[in-house]
Amino acid sequence: MKPRILIIYTGGTIGMIEDPVTKTLRPFDFDHLIENVPKVKMLDYVIDNLQISPPIDSSDMNPVYWGELAEAIRDNYDSYDGFVVLHGTDTMAYTASALSFMLKGLSKPVIITGSQLPIGEVRTDGEENLITALQIAAARHPDGKPMVQEVAILFENYLWRGNRSTKRSADNFNAFRSANYPELAKIGLGIAFAPEALDRAPGKSLEFSSAMDPAVTCIDLYPGLTKESLEYQLSQPGLKGVVLRTYGAGNGPTAPWFTETIREACDRGLVVLNVSQCQSGSVMPRRYKAGEMLAGAGAVSGRDMTFEAAITKMMYLFGLGLSRDEVIERLETDLAGEVTI
Ligand code: ASP
Repeated sequence: MKPRILIIYTGGTIGMIEDPVTKTLRPFDFDHLIENVPKVKMLDYVIDNLQISPPIDSSDMNPVYWGELAEAIRDNYDSYDGFVVLHGTDTMAYTASALSFMLKGLSKPVIITGSQLPIGEVRTDGEENLITALQIAAARHPDGKPMVQEVAILFENYLWRGNRSTKRSADNFNAFRSANYPELAKIGLGIAFAPEALDRAPGKSLEFSSAMDPAVTCIDLYPGLTKESLEYQLSQPGLKGVVLRTYGAGNGPTAPWFTETIREACDRGLVVLNVSQCQSGSVMPRRYKAGEMLAGAGAVSGRDMTFEAAITKMMYLFGLGLSRDEVIERLETDLAGEVTI
């Protein structure tokens, strides 16, 4: 049986062409993209495709598109062995994180890739990324089941867990990294999977949800943040949750106004999730007084979650219509491999 793969094209640099007048890159259609990768025909797979119409720069990605992507995968879940999502790099890690929650319990591969150079350019990284993504989506374990059973980002030399990834470079071909979780595979002459890193838990079943509630925001700490600014950001009408990007191991100012403002927001019913501005390492709320005070005010520890995973996890949990306590309980739980408990 030939592997059956569904490619879902959303846009991004991989399929872009240069505007002849302005010289800026803009998204173009899937036919143009696939014409530039004749080698795809050398793979003995059945490949079908869907596309977001019109394709977008991923800077325009939003929760509505995530819902459409998740639904497209759910609707085609039984008809394909794997899925390849072609996506711009700018928000790829957010989409990967969102899909990992919306498609919880996946037992088939959803491989997201794109490129730094458009597919039509001589030195493009898009051709190799697309071919490798297709091969990973088709890869089988000796037990006959898909090798990858989760949402992952394939870029240049690595396959990363989607909800552990972050875009780290605007120009390096190895544009992504996952500082708190090892690679799922290393791409060289061959594709070397890391069995201990892959989520291949037996008996998984798909728990689908496409509702994302965008009533969340992000607040970045910096020396000089004022009480007025913090209060203003926390008092947006309808706001349900805040990802607070703190210093180091999850620390914030010890000034009483700061702790009191956070406590007051939590008492009003907001969920405040503490993630670190550092790319690697974890929030450790009891390591410093400055972190303990934040925890005491009601902030929930995001441990070693990426910002991308934290904000999309909140949208997902509020989208399920859960109470504040239920949201907090699940923020402290590993739902899709996004956090080390
Ligand atoms: N702006 C592009 C996008 O995210 C960048 C890329 O694809 O690399 O759609």
